[in-house]
Amino acid sequence: MLDSIIIGAGVTGACIASSLSDQGALVHVVEKSRGPGGRCSARRAVVNSETIQWYHGAITLSTDHDVVRSHQYPHDAIRQLLRGVPVSWTWHVEAIDVHEHGVRVTSSTGDVIDARSCIITVPTPQVLQWSGVVGRMSAEQVARVTSLTYDPAYAVMLLVDRVPTESIDGVEGIRIHERTPSGLLPVTIITTAQWARDHLATSIDELRSYWRSCVESHGVKVIHCDVHRWRYAVPTARSAEPLIKVAERIVVTGDAWTGKPWQELSLRSLLK
Ligand SMILES: Cc1cc2nc3c(=O)[nH]c(=O)nc-3n(C[C@H](O)[C@H](O)[C@H](O)COP(=O)(O)OP(=O)(O)OC[C@H]3O[C@@H](n4cnc5c(N)ncnc54)[C@H](O)[C@@H]3O)c2cc1C
Repeated sequence: MLDSIIIGAGVTGACIASSLSDQGALVHVVEKSRGPGGRCSARRAVVNSETIQWYHGAITLSTDHDVVRSHQYPHDAIRQLLRGVPVSWTWHVEAIDVHEHGVRVTSSTGDVIDARSCIITVPTPQVLQWSGVVGRMSAEQVARVTSLTYDPAYAVMLLVDRVPTESIDGVEGIRIHERTPSGLLPVTIITTAQWARDHLATSIDELRSYWRSCVESHGVKVIHCDVHRWRYAVPTARSAEPLIKVAERIVVTGDAWTGKPWQELSLRSLLK
């Protein structure tokens, strides 16, 4: 039987999976998306037969983790950490049940994986949808999970001829990636939380045409525009998201996982 099933292939899941498997544990990661990264994702598109990569989400994580620190983009570190670790992609966890010998995790398509323990790295408020977990949490643990405040954000991925120089309403920051061989510039605009809140009901198609014309009105030529809505939000403060032992065999963590030695130690002791 597996020692641990790790839910989520973001930076937390990747760091934990790599660390536990380096110590000889038999782990398996399940991830609902087609690829790794979570809130440190990268997106690719082929434009005029060039493959362009945009990094959206976090690109500057404060972390002690050597592998994460040694990469310019956390997404590339996550790919490296997961090398050699078994991962099931597009595996959407729908239920978690604790039984006598361990934990059974069930996907939305009815597949099951059994393990001795389960480490949950999805944004913690989402944990509340799993009754098998919530049923085991004390009132204080539920309060810790629900007290976290998250903000929404949009990532607008553009291929442009130059960076807009004037300030644009609703922009929290602009990231400039490497120019393509043909001289085009991939940039990612991250919107402010307030702008995202004001446009939560707007469709992605409308957002695309809004941002295209908004950026073009600043004299910039837009060759490609895509918008990613964060399904989960950004922690408002760098809140020390807790490491919660929900039951003998279940740990909830994420966000504040920085790879610090005390965290590694507490995880190992929690799983014992
Ligand atoms: C725009 C933006 C900017 C940010 N900037 C910074 C910054 O500058 N500095 C900083 O420190 N932090 C920043 N952050 C926050 C940082 O990205 C997160 O704290 C960190 O990436 C969280 O990683 P994680 O692995 O804990 O969670 P996630 O990256 O959310 O990973 C969880 C994974 O679980 C998967 N998942 C969810 N539900 C299920 C399910 N039911 N079944 C299977 N898989 C599931 C998700 O698809 C995801 O891949 C930013 C975030 C955003 C969005």
